[in-house]
Amino acid sequence: DSKQRYAVVTGSNKGIGLETVKGLASNGVKVILTARDEKRGYEAVEKLRECGFSDELVIFYQLDVTDSSSIASLVKFVKFHFGRLDILVNNAGINGFNSADLIGSMIKWKELNQTYDMAVKCLRTNYYGAKETTEAFLPLLELSNSPMIVNVSSTAGLLQVLKEFMKDFKEGSLKTKGWPTYLSAYMLSKAAMNSYTRLLARKHPEFCVNCVCPGFVKTDINRNTGILSVENGAASVVRLALLPSGSPSGHFFAMQELSSF
Ligand code: NDP
Repeated sequence: DSKQRYAVVTGSNKGIGLETVKGLASNGVKVILTARDEKRGYEAVEKLRECGFSDELVIFYQLDVTDSSSIASLVKFVKFHFGRLDILVNNAGINGFNSADLIGSMIKWKELNQTYDMAVKCLRTNYYGAKETTEAFLPLLELSNSPMIVNVSSTAGLLQVLKEFMKDFKEGSLKTKGWPTYLSAYMLSKAAMNSYTRLLARKHPEFCVNCVCPGFVKTDINRNTGILSVENGAASVVRLALLPSGSPSGHFFAMQELSSF
């Protein structure tokens, strides 16, 4: 069916990802809800069935973005059943901390400890995982009339962070400002993702590829300390995923607003 659009949303068993699946399916897109854990994935699909989303609109497939064979298996599945991919939403992410340590707003993160192993896992998931998933899906996206990639990122990854870092460096206040931990793996993972978005857009002018910060959203990643609802957060992601072909590419959006990197 050439009119039917097909989407994959990574890390969509809960939070912004799950809500993005709902938003896309409500617009007639056939969505593959993915989760690294099969049980959590099936439970999420069950919830959607109860809300009236049939298997014509939402199906489940296991995907761990840190596992190459899992990525390959999903690509094979999509190729066999749909022959192409129209929309890829790279949403899966972790915060790189012990969630139990999270208190208050994101800014308090600078007071938290992150171990080397946690940092590796964070970059592996948020950046390298998204990159590997994207590269694996490129051949199927190239078969779409309007290939669309949305990278769910964060203002925490804006290059502004680097400017602030340099300012403190100049003033000799790196240590007093707590920089070593402030420059968290999470921020780096999102800064890398934002750069990758621009590179990808330049390399593939036929694609529409953007990244978006959904705002400070109440989900498990911040122990539900966020301000916005998941519906609100996902609305920014869904809006970008459904942009018409020929829309701006290689940009960063802070929620619905075009912003600088
Ligand atoms: P959640 O913790 O609710 O959801 C994260 C999702 O990613 C879960 O489904 C989780 O699965 C999944 N995930 C984690 N690791 C992997 C992996 N290796 N492979 C596949 N899936 C994985 O958080 P959010 O919904 O808030 O986060 C979604 C995205 O939004 C993230 O990229 C986050 O950085 C970004 N974001 C969120 C903000 C917020 O305020 N909430 C602000 C800015 C950006 P599991 O259930 O198995 O852990």
